[in-house]
Order: sequence, then structure tokens, then C-alpha cells
Amino acid sequence: MHWFDTHCHLDRLPVGVELSAIMARAVAVGVNRLVVPGVAGAPARVAELLDFKGVELAWGIHPEYISECKSIVYDSEPWAGAGYKPVALGECGLDRRAKCSVEEQERVFAWHLQLAVKHNLPVIVHLVGHYQRAFDMLAAMATPPIVVLHSWSGSVEMAKRFVAFGAVISISGGHFRRPEKLERLLGELPISTLLLETDAPDMAAPFWQGDYNEPAAMSAIGAAVAEKAGLAVEELAEILYNNSLRIFGQ
Ligand SMILES: [Zn+2]
Repeated sequence: MHWFDTHCHLDRLPVGVELSAIMARAVAVGVNRLVVPGVAGAPARVAELLDFKGVELAWGIHPEYISECKSIVYDSEPWAGAGYKPVALGECGLDRRAKCSVEEQERVFAWHLQLAVKHNLPVIVHLVGHYQRAFDMLAAMATPPIVVLHSWSGSVEMAKRFVAFGAVISISGGHFRRPEKLERLLGELPISTLLLETDAPDMAAPFWQGDYNEPAAMSAIGAAVAEKAGLAVEELAEILYNNSLRIFGQ
């Protein structure tokens, strides 16, 4: 059985935590593919991360980091010189708690969406509030990119609208804090539109016993999701792994 952690900030682990130890624990439970999103452009520790088999990097500016990236150059290949080719744009999006205005967030998000289309890449989207605005932005595009709504926090109804538009929803351990909503998401969305992530090192599942969230939590999250979805864990693992490959490439 293997797992694909589609959203894991391996470059932002707590100080003093060894990346090699984290990766060894992940591999031990079957996690063999991981996507590390960028929050202020490229992730930190690029060369170190790329040394690990199965680790892939995205590139993006998170809405809460826009104010730290004041000198954003709206380039057509902003990762040039970062030492890798991203497997996705993101994480990017809109957040009602972010310091900068929603108009500025929209400008940066729209740029990511256009880059994704230009480079034929999926987009890892972070949305807290502003769901309708984000939906309208995608709907206004002639050819929208494939969108991964990571650790979805909106309503089940809104999730269904995005999914009908070709988006996929990524379930994290954080969803177990609202189990009724997770049950509805699992019951009402086709399993072909779901991915799984830890969002480590934050957003630990309530049942996770570790000191901090890490990719090794994937097997526990997967088992808990399988139980809620009424599927054998092996079957769920296989389907979600293949969904992830479809989005992020073979
Ligand atoms: Zn994240």
C-alpha cells in the first residue's frame, strides 16, 4: 500500500527536526510521493528536498505572504533560477484573514492561474472565505487550469460546484475536526475527485499522537478516511494515489 501526500511543507518543519528522520518515517508507512508547495515563491531548502526520491516542488505565493513579497515581478517563468521545474503552481488563492486587500490577492492569484495555463500545470489553491470570488475568477477564464482545492474549508455545496467545474478536493487530517462535514464531502463527491494530504507541519488530525504533523501521518489519515468512506483502506489508497498521479504527473 502506498500514499501520495499532495501537500506537505517539508521546508517548514519545526526547528531542529531532521528532514532525513521525517522522510524515513514517511517511507516506513508507505508515503513515496510528496508535493511541497511554495508559500513565498520557491520552497526553502530546494537542493536538500530534491535529494529525496519522490519529493516534488511547486512554486507559489500564499495570500498571507503577498505583503512579504512586495517586489513581485509578474514574470512568465518566476521559478527560473530556483533550481527546479515545479509540478504545480501554488499554494496561492484568497484568504479573508490575510493582511493585504482582496483586490491585491486577486491580482496575484489570477497571475498564478494564467501561469498554470501557460505551462500546463495544476494549481494548488488555498481558500479561506472568498469562495464565490475564486469560483467567478475560474469561471471567467476561457480555459481554466486544473485546480486542487487543498484542505477545503468551504461548504459541501460550494465544493460540488468547483468539482463540477473540474476541480479536485484535497482532504487533510484537519477535516476530522468537523467529522459531519467530512462525511458529507465523502458521501457527495465522486471519489475520483479526491486527494489526500497532511498539510504538515500544521493542521494535525485530532487523533495524531506525534508532537507535530508530518507525512508519516498519511497512513492514519488514510485509514480514518477509508472508514468514513466505507471502503477498504487498500482500495482507498490505490484510488487516491492514482488520482494524485493524474493531477501531478507520473
Ligand atoms: Zn499549505
